[in-house]
Amino acid sequence: MKNLNSISYTELELVALSSKKKKTVVNVDNLRIGIDFILIAGPCSVENEKQMILTAQKVKELGANMLRGGAYKPRTSPYSFQGLGVEGLKILKKAKEETGLPIVTEVMDTRDIDIVCKYADVLQLGARNMQNYSLIKEVGRTNKPVLLKRGMSCTLLEWLGSAEHIMNEGNSQVILCERGISTFETYTRYTLDLSSVPAVKELSHLPVIVDPSHGTGRVNLVESMSLAAVAAGADGLMVEVHYHPDDALSDKDQTMTPGQFKALVEKLRKMNTLVNSFELDKIENKKKQGVDFIPKN
Ligand code: PEP
Ligand code: MN
Repeated sequence: MKNLNSISYTELELVALSSKKKKTVVNVDNLRIGIDFILIAGPCSVENEKQMILTAQKVKELGANMLRGGAYKPRTSPYSFQGLGVEGLKILKKAKEETGLPIVTEVMDTRDIDIVCKYADVLQLGARNMQNYSLIKEVGRTNKPVLLKRGMSCTLLEWLGSAEHIMNEGNSQVILCERGISTFETYTRYTLDLSSVPAVKELSHLPVIVDPSHGTGRVNLVESMSLAAVAAGADGLMVEVHYHPDDALSDKDQTMTPGQFKALVEKLRKMNTLVNSFELDKIENKKKQGVDFIPKN
């Protein structure tokens, strides 16, 4: 039976691999997302200057090449921490000045797009807003790279359909992010659909990264799923790290300590070497850049 809510692959003109034949490379400062492995790390939320700067310095020292942190937070409860808004954006800017790491942060409302563009290098569209078509189209009219998270109840084609909307508005700098989908499983927060990584690569020229923190909701599972994501061919990872997760105002159960992040990075380097030796990426037959895919400085 036809699924009336869905979209067919033939409608995806701009996103489809067949439309371009060459992989999209998204440039953020000196990073070439799609060629260089991108390791985004940082806290769930920007809480205060000390928390953000300390965490940013730590993740930079350990090998991250982009910094995350939410200033506008989509929270299930109205009584939970909602984010610092513009103050949070200013703290993110300071963290960039301190570390040089480019910033990715979520924009939830069309009214905030201009201000978020002023402070961020990449605009994140969250899972809950993947199908907020007025928001994503407005983001498609900016010239900022976009990180488009997969909606937790969305199919692969619906996700690609949202990317098509953004590209159709003129913005072709789209990075996809798999962050887990809702299933009947309750042990994990979501079910991380790693099969979407090679599936996206079959269908589209856009880079795809994985967020194992939201995908599992459990810090003990983040390392294994990160390594699995690299094995699946992901172009990068987004991992929640806090200098002291017990104090985190959001998502503490899935947030790594700097020590856990360090151990992860060491294993990622080895995994990437192995994956490069398989030459998984047959589209351009292009290997990711060397053993030290994560810049050391
Ligand atoms: C986040 O990355 O901060 C976030 C809220 O993630 P998601 O939209 O995937 O739930
Ligand atoms: Mn979070």
